[in-house]
Amino acid sequence: MVGEPQDDCLFCKIAAGQIPADVVRETETTLAFRDISPQAPTHVLVIPKVHHRDAASLAAAEPAIAAELLREAGQVAGEEKLESYRIVFNTGSGAGQTVFHAHAHVMGGRGMQWPPG
Ligand code: AMP
Ligand code: ZN
Repeated sequence: MVGEPQDDCLFCKIAAGQIPADVVRETETTLAFRDISPQAPTHVLVIPKVHHRDAASLAAAEPAIAAELLREAGQVAGEEKLESYRIVFNTGSGAGQTVFHAHAHVMGGRGMQWPPG
């Protein structure tokens, strides 16, 4: 069910502390941890603790948590001293989403191209 922990979801398990992660920030509703396969000098994922399949679904169902997620992404960027950075929400497998639990990628510390690949 939407919002309920999913047995087969990696990020639900990380949120529950069942799988370890390199946590950098935590709030009542969100968790930020370093990506296991960083694509930039700073690459942190910010997830809601509740399960929704993507960022838009989260925002539709729980807008306050979606706002908190974005606020936390900014806090991560500040703590990592990123002057410029990118917040990415891959949505759908064609766009590169591999974990179907909403998450923001906070990436920075190197130059970035536009448009993204
Ligand atoms: P996406 O491809 O947008 O769904 O992003 C999923 C991200 O999760 C990828 O960047 C992976 O490197 C990252 N990832 C996968 N497993 C783990 C893990 N156990 N801990 C931290 N990051 C992970
Ligand atoms: Zn989940």
